[in-house]
Amino acid sequence: MRLNINHIPKMITPFEAFQIIESTITPLPAQSVPLMESLGCILRQDIIAKDAIPPFDNSAMDGFAVQWDDLSSLPLDLDLIGEVSAGQVPHTHVESGTCLRITTGSQIPEGADAIIPLEWTTEINEQTVRFHKKSERLSFIRPASQDVEKGSVVVQSGARITPPIIGMIAASGYNSIDVGVTPEVSLIVTGNELHPPSSGLLPPAKIYDTNGPGLSAQIIDINAKVIGPMVVNDDQPSIAQSIENSRGSDVIVIAGGVSVGKYDYVKDILHGMGFQKHFWRVKQRPGGPMLFGVLDSKLVFGLPGNPVSSAVCFQQYVRPALLMLMGALDIHPLQFTAELTSSVQKKSGLYHFIRGNAERREDGELFVSTTGLQASNLYSSLQEANCLIHIEEEVENPRRGEKVMVTPLPWGQNF
Ligand code: AMP
Ligand code: MG
Repeated sequence: MRLNINHIPKMITPFEAFQIIESTITPLPAQSVPLMESLGCILRQDIIAKDAIPPFDNSAMDGFAVQWDDLSSLPLDLDLIGEVSAGQVPHTHVESGTCLRITTGSQIPEGADAIIPLEWTTEINEQTVRFHKKSERLSFIRPASQDVEKGSVVVQSGARITPPIIGMIAASGYNSIDVGVTPEVSLIVTGNELHPPSSGLLPPAKIYDTNGPGLSAQIIDINAKVIGPMVVNDDQPSIAQSIENSRGSDVIVIAGGVSVGKYDYVKDILHGMGFQKHFWRVKQRPGGPMLFGVLDSKLVFGLPGNPVSSAVCFQQYVRPALLMLMGALDIHPLQFTAELTSSVQKKSGLYHFIRGNAERREDGELFVSTTGLQASNLYSSLQEANCLIHIEEEVENPRRGEKVMVTPLPWGQNF
């Protein structure tokens, strides 16, 4: 079907597009998983410390527990009356004139009000320790609750689970937790020109599929599950069948076939299946012809097939949507301001996501350069990028030295 130019809808801005996506999403349910299987998941309960951390006053050093008043003049000898080590309940009281050997992490024995590090003492014999130096009363005693109060919230629902969050949850006494169910994403990649990698020589007029593997990896990277990629030709029955097969998934991502070309069938096929279109075409580059809507209450993203367009649209729209489905509160990458090292060409009226490399100079200032030509088929410049440079619709060609907003890419090195 030829598209009537009069029926091309008004384009919306990336901001409006994301608002529409956001308003469509209801988080998936939560499920309980073993703590050690939760890395990268979204926490769906507040973690309340079951005990204080640390649960008891304990020694910060290997040394001796003493009564601080005994050490008024130094050097001084005290009677060694025993020892307490980590994990052991101390049964011996420290009386005036005595000391108890203690190891780091051991519970402070009754009577003691300071720990003197081993390095400040000499062991005269098995019964006597000589003290040469002291600090304040309560020195080297780590008080109970210093890190966390019993009953306080240590990690909030909606956090993405990182290695230290796993440690914190374990330290709070949990071995299983509620996390957002992993979204299942069906990935359909369209194009008669696509040829699977490693199946002999590349036939004439064919290209290897970038989007199938690349988008799959972006889905896995966010801890979602990929169904596919299903690589289909630009024929209506094949595309329709692949969408039909994907109806059970939480999200359907279709790459290619959403523009205005003769064989861009995706919109019409979806329409025939009861798809509710929420938008098609966004005032952005790359990814102008992006499509979004709902099929049986499942989210459907139609991403333009140029590999940079589909990868950038995934990063800007699909990734935060998947995080929201999992129940995340923080869904957008951090934003930094950086100084442009060269002028940038842009099309007036369109928001540009430009592949960039941000770098801190010696004075700590952040500078950003583009990774070269910005056509949406040039994928190597995405691989080289560590950030996206955002240039808003109304900004004309920004010049070298101007400040721009950049957001880190998940695979880029930190800056
Ligand atoms: P389309 O959005 O289907 O019109 O495709 C736009 C451009 O992206 C065309 O040059 C396609 O050959 C290219 N393209 C589409 N899908 C892929 C893919 N999976 N891998 C690499 N290039 C693709
Ligand atoms: Mg195509």
